[in-house]
Amino acid sequence: MAAEKARRLLQQFRAFISSIDFYTFAFPPQCISCESQLFDEDLAIADRHDDSVSRKVLHSQNWCLRCLDQARAPMEERCPTCGAIVAIHASYKGRCRLCYASKFHFSQAVCINNYGGLMQELVIRMKGRKDECLAMQLGTLLGHEMERLDLIDQIDVMAPVPTHWMKKFRNGFQASELICQRASRTTGIPHVGALMKSTRLTQKQGMLSDLQRLENAKGAFALNPFFAENIKGKTVALVDDVMTSGATANQCAKALKRAGAANVVVAVVARGAKGQ
Ligand SMILES: [Zn+2]
Ligand SMILES: [Zn+2]
Repeated sequence: MAAEKARRLLQQFRAFISSIDFYTFAFPPQCISCESQLFDEDLAIADRHDDSVSRKVLHSQNWCLRCLDQARAPMEERCPTCGAIVAIHASYKGRCRLCYASKFHFSQAVCINNYGGLMQELVIRMKGRKDECLAMQLGTLLGHEMERLDLIDQIDVMAPVPTHWMKKFRNGFQASELICQRASRTTGIPHVGALMKSTRLTQKQGMLSDLQRLENAKGAFALNPFFAENIKGKTVALVDDVMTSGATANQCAKALKRAGAANVVVAVVARGAKGQ
């Protein structure tokens, strides 16, 4: 009898041990933004969300609902051309007040949110700490955002806005490449990291006026000739962390169109714009 009881106890103990997820036990899921611990109740909240993409993001247990709501902009306030989130919706030929006078070589830009509030904090944290994990999570979120905007079926290939090799060597961190890799994995769109190259060293765009940004980016990017045949007639999504004046993305799009790409779409984590 005693042996039988011991055997049953051992069985119960084994069942208990196998029911514990040791990885989750050792590393409980945390929100990538506020770093608060995520619990089963958060999954219950995720299940009640009426948007299937949001449910997917919340189930990944990388964002709490509060941070996700702050990080992403509402769908209805996006400029269909430059992607800026504008309180007064774009009304003039699909342009908003920020881009109505701009000439773009890309057909559309999309972002997760404007560069401000929580999104600004996250981008500064990502760049300042060279936080690869955060860059990848923002890339995943950008991929989901492209899914919410029904863009996936239109795009053939994704490529990061290139960084000059000297900058890469100096920084050791290329945000656009990491973001693009993850957005590609999330959307299933093929990713070609070396599709474009930076042909000369440019100044940091953040310190320049719009006109200086334009001069700075002019002719600074080219298609990698190795991929010339692969992009003919294709729609390319150019991925970057932040787009402000659009000068860099515009020069890249120009080079791609000249090389035969049918269309270029820009996908960025944050859209920085004056007076937004
Ligand atoms: Zn959070
Ligand atoms: Zn616009």
